[in-house]
Amino acid sequence: MSNLDDFIPGPKLKYQVCSCALSPSRLPSLDYALNPYVGCSHNCTYCYAPNILKIDRSAWNDVKVKSGISKLLSKELKTKRGVIGLGTVTDPYQPIESVIHNTRQCLQEISKEDLPVSLLTKSDLAIRDLNLYANLTRAEIGFSISTDDEHSKFFEKDVPLPSKRLAAAKEFVDIGLNVYILIGPTIYGITDKSDSLINDIADSGIKRVMVDRLNLRPGLSDTLENILPFSSINSDQVSNLIKFRCKSAGIKVEDVF
Ligand code: SF4
Repeated sequence: MSNLDDFIPGPKLKYQVCSCALSPSRLPSLDYALNPYVGCSHNCTYCYAPNILKIDRSAWNDVKVKSGISKLLSKELKTKRGVIGLGTVTDPYQPIESVIHNTRQCLQEISKEDLPVSLLTKSDLAIRDLNLYANLTRAEIGFSISTDDEHSKFFEKDVPLPSKRLAAAKEFVDIGLNVYILIGPTIYGITDKSDSLINDIADSGIKRVMVDRLNLRPGLSDTLENILPFSSINSDQVSNLIKFRCKSAGIKVEDVF
């Protein structure tokens, strides 16, 4: 039996009542955003989701569970139709999901009608739901990877290692799902040092990569400058290098947004 305290930052599980499950998305190719949690305990140093939601950065890993979200979703799906982005400003497979199952229950509602859905995660926990994805004919899943295991420890210390994420992505490839890797943020001295990353992606059978440059929102520069030798100009250069490597490996590559 899992102990919640092993998964949840802070002393107590916190809930947030939500009045709406599907909100209009401003992201291209998505009609709706569906976020089962507020906050994210993956705690990536470069995360700018708190800036988007106007949440204090120090409170971001104080995760709140959106209570009753799958029931709300079930009702809303009667009238709202379109591509659903599951986890646009939180990781839908962050540790709390292993015991709360908000993401799984939302997927179950989506799979009843085989609706189009797109997820992005940094966790191999997603493979727990392979059986649900196997019944979704219009689903895509992306795994976000910035570099290799050695370098990811600098800024993703609470996240499953990139090698685990890639192994999970391969499992989705093997069931025929549309899988992509998001390489980002591209960080000078980190992302470009991973010689094997692109070859490992190609060897996993993944045909599509999206590249996301470092997005220096307010509050991030100071945190990152303390640990990383970078500048935003270097991030563009690293992105171009990654794109070149992808094209050389026969992988389709595009920019995020
Ligand atoms: S996984 Fe995504 S949402 Fe969570 S902390 Fe990292 S960048 Fe932010």
